[in-house]
Amino acid sequence: MSNRGSADLLIEGVGKRFGEVMALNGVSLQVAQGELLTILGPSGSGKTTLLKVVAGFETPDGGTVTVGGEEITALPPAKRDIGMVFQNYALFPHLTVQGNVSFPLEMRNVARAEIDRRVAEAIAMVELKGYERRLPRQLSGGQQQRVALARAIVFNPRLLLLDEPFGALDRKLRETMQLEVRRLQRKLGLTTIFIAHDQEEALVLSDRIAVMNHGTIQQVATTTEIYERPANDFVADFVGESNIFHGTVSAPGTVALDNGRTLKVASSLPAGRKVGVLMRPERFSPGGANAFVGEVLEAVYLGTSFKLRLACEGGMELLIRQPAKGSLPGTGARIEVGIEPDAIHVF
Ligand code: ATP
Repeated sequence: MSNRGSADLLIEGVGKRFGEVMALNGVSLQVAQGELLTILGPSGSGKTTLLKVVAGFETPDGGTVTVGGEEITALPPAKRDIGMVFQNYALFPHLTVQGNVSFPLEMRNVARAEIDRRVAEAIAMVELKGYERRLPRQLSGGQQQRVALARAIVFNPRLLLLDEPFGALDRKLRETMQLEVRRLQRKLGLTTIFIAHDQEEALVLSDRIAVMNHGTIQQVATTTEIYERPANDFVADFVGESNIFHGTVSAPGTVALDNGRTLKVASSLPAGRKVGVLMRPERFSPGGANAFVGEVLEAVYLGTSFKLRLACEGGMELLIRQPAKGSLPGTGARIEVGIEPDAIHVF
């Protein structure tokens, strides 16, 4: 069997059209060997199509896919040595756990003794020892996804592709599985693409995140960079809770918002530049160089924090989070908050 192991991935200028729909519009992306990159984006943004192009289930209209320096754009899926796990487990229902995990090795005509050794190893890795003789229907959802994962890694794939693999699991189990995938992926040094539409999942798991919308990549960056310094409105709004406003730099360090309010910012962009500003809800606190007085429109208790929607002067609405201390402010209460210039992201 081929045993080339984990490799880097290069996607260049990939396009894919379905009739009127431009599912992928010139997508380029690089994933380093051993890296876990998450693709995050709304429904219909092209995430699955991109994964299918990498796996070989869709042929792109243009562009190339290169793995470990070898261009594979036209190679059939079975020859790509790519492991995959999808949301709907897609195990073979009539095969046991042992049979499911053995399958990719049998396809590759690996010797029996070698198959047994590697299957035992993969089953141990996903912590399913003792379940070898069970059929998929005798397993829980989380256990079925572990089997799918074992089957995807047992042949030492060049890439691992995970398409919302835990979407059907409850929150607790999903979190456990996320950490487990991360542990396995690191241990094996597997180059991995993970599709998520839950942004928290993306922040927990990834080395880097690629945010997609309408078949294009909006930004590729580390998790902190995506959260703290989003490239545009779409990324700022899609990842995390946000207060986004638009305005013009009136002097270096000052932005005049379109709603009439002036903000002190840490950016040194020149006067006259049209900008967006992002203020994350948790960056507000009492005091601060930019002060706001607002009336509470809505207040929600979230365990460790209060989430408040405030109506401030000039029709400006702010979403803020405060540590949950004392009682939850009532609707109509007046609240003073502020934000420091360096807590405002200007883009
Ligand atoms: P989701 O999060 O809902 O899975 P996605 O980001 O994975 O969405 P894709 O499945 O890649 O999105 O779909 C991108 C666009 O291409 C959508 O508008 C979809 O309707 C369209 N599309 C995907 N596959 C086909 C197909 N086989 N035929 C026609 N249109 C398709």
